[in-house]
Amino acid sequence: MKQNRRNFIKTSGLLGGAVLTPGILTNSFAKNINIIGDNKKMKLTFKPYTLELKHVFTIATSSRSTTPVMLTQIEYDGIIGYGEASMPPYLGESHDTAAKFLSKVDLSQFNDPFKMEEILDYVDSIEDKNTAAKAAVDIALHDLVGKIIGQPWYKVWGFDKTKTPKTSFTIGIDTPKVVKEKVLEAAPYHILKAKLGRDTDKQMIETIRSVTDKPIVVDVNQGWTDKHFALDMINWLDEKGVKLVEQPMPKTQIDDMAWLTENSPLPTFADEALQRIPDVIKAHGVYSGINIKLMKCTGLREAHKMLNLAKSLDMQVMLGCMTATSCSISAMSQLAPEAEWADLDGNLLIGNDPFEGTLIVDGKVTLTDAPGIGLTKVRAY
Ligand code: MG
Repeated sequence: MKQNRRNFIKTSGLLGGAVLTPGILTNSFAKNINIIGDNKKMKLTFKPYTLELKHVFTIATSSRSTTPVMLTQIEYDGIIGYGEASMPPYLGESHDTAAKFLSKVDLSQFNDPFKMEEILDYVDSIEDKNTAAKAAVDIALHDLVGKIIGQPWYKVWGFDKTKTPKTSFTIGIDTPKVVKEKVLEAAPYHILKAKLGRDTDKQMIETIRSVTDKPIVVDVNQGWTDKHFALDMINWLDEKGVKLVEQPMPKTQIDDMAWLTENSPLPTFADEALQRIPDVIKAHGVYSGINIKLMKCTGLREAHKMLNLAKSLDMQVMLGCMTATSCSISAMSQLAPEAEWADLDGNLLIGNDPFEGTLIVDGKVTLTDAPGIGLTKVRAY
């Protein structure tokens, strides 16, 4: 039945008279659009939280059993967007640095959360570095704006949620007995990520292969310094069913790394060598792909741009994470339909997650249709 404009406004709940295409409106958007520009202010709050890891986690350079995070909220007219900074110590941020940075962020000067570019440019300009603290604001703002329009970000970006990859599940460096236990615990996941870069690398892979023939991806965390040794290892790993090698050599050995990628039978991925947009250009021709992480690149706004840039350079994309709550995992998952690889297990490694969001169903990253970053708070913090 044909509706006149007045009836359309009435039935859709759109009271403010904004001119919009009826087909894209949802009731929640129509209801919430009225709150914009009413001199309402955004309010940022933050709270330190400590993640308890289920296992002591060992990589080439360190071991730990907890991870400090800063949980943020941006409130605007009764709607709350959730964000998070996850700060493993080797990245140089902490509860103290994040609190100091976030105290300087004054969002009350903005009355329109949709001006995300302007707001996040301002946040980025307050100080250098502090990329995790910046991500905590970016994620909360994305969650807020998605909730205002009543849509999850994967839809806003036009992605097909059925195209998400399977996630890998990380097995840290450990004794053969513990590695076997962890592999059995990883039964629901179809790809295993082995941390290498110590003198036990072949033993790690042999141990995993003694209990499963699942595909393995490896992360060397810059652990191999000789390019010929690295190539020999990659050839051996290829025979063992390994699918890709992340950061095999130190990020400073750029020429060696380019040689390795050219000769490697497996794709190589930049992780430590990559933080923000300019690093994608630098990685081109040196690595086959990039591992994007919200805590290194300041959040979803830049991660989305890096993904598009890498694709335009014909590079593969992996979405990675720190140990984190479902907040940042669910946020990053919004980009998953466009990524070849996902390493989004950070929330699965902790025992005190205050949120529920993206799920792993039969090993596959499975987006919810909850608006914003697809998150529900399930526990007080
Ligand atoms: Mg890595």
